[in-house]
Amino acid sequence: MLDIQKIRADFPILSQTVNGKPLVYFDNGATSQKPQIVIDAEVKYYQEINANIHRGVHTLSQLATDAYEVARGKVKDHINAKFAHEVLFTSGTTHGINLVANGFVSILKPGDEVVVSSLEHHSNIVPWQMLCEKTGAILKVIPINNNGELIIEEFDKLLSDKTKIVTVNHISNALGVINPIKYIIDKAHTVGAAVLIDGAQAVPHLKPNVQELDCDFYAFSGHKMCGPTGTGILYGKEEWLNKLPPYQGGGEMIKEVTFEKTTYADLPHKFEAGTPNIAGGIVLGTAIDYLNEIGFDKIHEYENELLEYATKRLNEIEGIRIYGNTKNKASVVSFNIDGIHPYDIGSIIDKLGIAVRTGHHCAQPIMNFFCIPGTIRASFSFYNTKEEIDAMVEAVKKAQTMLS
Ligand code: PMP
Repeated sequence: MLDIQKIRADFPILSQTVNGKPLVYFDNGATSQKPQIVIDAEVKYYQEINANIHRGVHTLSQLATDAYEVARGKVKDHINAKFAHEVLFTSGTTHGINLVANGFVSILKPGDEVVVSSLEHHSNIVPWQMLCEKTGAILKVIPINNNGELIIEEFDKLLSDKTKIVTVNHISNALGVINPIKYIIDKAHTVGAAVLIDGAQAVPHLKPNVQELDCDFYAFSGHKMCGPTGTGILYGKEEWLNKLPPYQGGGEMIKEVTFEKTTYADLPHKFEAGTPNIAGGIVLGTAIDYLNEIGFDKIHEYENELLEYATKRLNEIEGIRIYGNTKNKASVVSFNIDGIHPYDIGSIIDKLGIAVRTGHHCAQPIMNFFCIPGTIRASFSFYNTKEEIDAMVEAVKKAQTMLS
């Protein structure tokens, strides 16, 4: 059992009032809040060891480099990568996906195929469209059913020897649906395609095991898992990272530069040009330690309880429609109320201290599928409570009365 009050005390922002009401933060899908230990670690880095990494022989530079590489090691252990050099620091999921899509420019030929799903965030659609435009490859899309689940038989039919990469999210940000990624990875491998998993919405809730999954790439953001903004990780299998060309050129990613020819550094540095978010990377390690100390099994169990409770309570509201009616869901309730624009509900409940996301959630194809402009999305974290869910339900009922 989690001691929620003790956990909440770790997050200074949660004791705030917003618009004169206690803050109820249900926009965790957009970004999570940060515990004091993470905030302190960021300050400590700048107070005590700030220096550029991998460059200086001086003591501070060594300390900063060591701390950065310790953080890389923590991520490696956390996701069970085989080697630390398979763990690349990025600025977030978007950066990681673009790095891979850009690398595939040199691999794809006209007529090759890239498979994405209908459930993707724009950042796992647009880079692949750009790749297809550059190479003449064709984008194929796995459809969804009315419950917001991928139609897996249609995925099977899309695969052929033309398929070069399949890219799907682990958990949908707009609906919370958990995708059958192990099946997708294994099936895509039967035709020799690489698989990228967008884990942005998964890592706050579970511990991905990349070797067990056997995915070729797994991208995620630090800021959704209690870490700082502008941090992220791209895991890539060694053989793939060796095959892909560098994404950006610059300092740190070279072995030798002459005007005739440049040779590139070994992994992971080949993909880490320029001065990175050093403090951010180190502090992401602190965030991962914090989450592991609480325990992902407990987090998962408690968040499922919140999800179940929220679904039950919201279903009391007349005219509600919840999107993504599936058992395989994590911590998200995406809904609309008959005849009311989601933005109007969101604005009114904000005045009551409730922070939810309204709109298309950077997933316009899903909204188009359901023929709606957007949804109201409440996304929960382990520091939320059932009392907060009650407050949201009452606020939504109030907004409904005002707007009807
Ligand atoms: N994919 C998914 C599923 C997401 O939810 C998000 C963030 N909302 C992203 C990708 C992009 O993450 P970031 O903006 O941190 O790069």
